[in-house]
Amino acid sequence: MKIHEYQAKQILRDAGVSVPRGVVADTPQAVVNALHELGGGPAVVKAQIHAGGRGKGTIKDNPSQHGVQVVHDSEEARRAANGLLGHTLVTVQTGPAGQVVRRVLVEEGCSIARELYLGIVVDRAAAGPVLIASSEGGMDIEQVAAATPERIYRQRFHPDVGLWPYQARNLSGRLGLSAAVTRRAQTFMRRLCHVFVEQDCTLVEINPLVVTAEEELVALDAKMSFDENALYRHPDVVGLRDLAEELPAEVRAAEEGLSYVKLDGNIGCLVNGAGLAMSTMDLIKLHGGRPANFLDVGGGANVHQVTEAFRILLDDGNVRAVLVNIFGGIMRCTTIAEAILAAYRSVGFRVPLVVRLEGTEVEQGRKLLAGSGLDIIAADGLTDAAKKVVAAVIRGHDQP
Ligand code: ADP
Ligand code: MG
Repeated sequence: MKIHEYQAKQILRDAGVSVPRGVVADTPQAVVNALHELGGGPAVVKAQIHAGGRGKGTIKDNPSQHGVQVVHDSEEARRAANGLLGHTLVTVQTGPAGQVVRRVLVEEGCSIARELYLGIVVDRAAAGPVLIASSEGGMDIEQVAAATPERIYRQRFHPDVGLWPYQARNLSGRLGLSAAVTRRAQTFMRRLCHVFVEQDCTLVEINPLVVTAEEELVALDAKMSFDENALYRHPDVVGLRDLAEELPAEVRAAEEGLSYVKLDGNIGCLVNGAGLAMSTMDLIKLHGGRPANFLDVGGGANVHQVTEAFRILLDDGNVRAVLVNIFGGIMRCTTIAEAILAAYRSVGFRVPLVVRLEGTEVEQGRKLLAGSGLDIIAADGLTDAAKKVVAAVIRGHDQP
């Protein structure tokens, strides 16, 4: 789960990590008031969307308006607010559709001497968190990683112990920090690592981490994502969720207990079990098709869930065929077949449906589907299912 920059900065502030003073605002007048509250300009007006790259990103219908704007007085603040609020910002991370800016963060201007990079993620190979640092902070860290990976330093740390002081000193040395800044960097890095573990984050990214003219360290940008499986122990973090930033279909699916991720292909997939869902997508690709989504209905797959899943799949205008791939383990195939038939009837299918069933009572389940009189293409095995669904897309005169 992602949150906004202003929310991440509040969490950091509470943890004693230094961030600039700022006020969030959702109308031009509130932006002007915020500027006064901060003691006038220079200040920075920053679009709040769940995506980075805002500094270089531009408003869709106005390429001269960037997502991060320096302002010096009320007039400029109002102009920036009008240019951003209610408009669609397109950045390298939003995709061409962009995201609507519903609020901005007005922040005191910071005198930047150096821009560094700090990030924390879970390193799956090491089965633990890793702190990543680079002297090349600012807006193009992905390019630095690709072109000069030797300028990116990694330091694993134990979640229970946190970052050892010597580890922080080593990283500071590599970043070329002065003795005074190194002392501050130690505290900064250790607190950041502590927040990552305590809040069950999957990502904390400070880009840029700024060394000011006064040799202070300030988190000028902050990105934070949380492990959704751990949200039950962070009700305060759940309260920060902004559903307007998430895809409506994904929100709806989550409410129904379905794990759904939209993709850009045209074959809708309905599968029970995440592993089976992944293999199904792989097989569709192998046979020349493109999955429109990942969808795991869980171990069960009852009438209600299958109906909702069909609705979500068919709401996606790209979908040209649907593949249902269900393994009846705990659930019997007869129950699943009945669920598919009931869902098919209540949803009203507009595209071919291929069904592959396997497991307990599979023969009876297949008979139910075959005898239903509905236009359902039965498949025998995973490969057969993938081939049939790709063929159905081609028959519909679409690119697989
Ligand atoms: P994004 O990563 O989405 O582009 P950032 O918050 O990193 O957004 O802002 C982009 C750039 O704008 C930063 O690299 C920094 O140079 C500048 N900037 C951001 N906030 C401030 C601030 N409070 N004072 C001065 N410059 C800022
Ligand atoms: Mg940034």
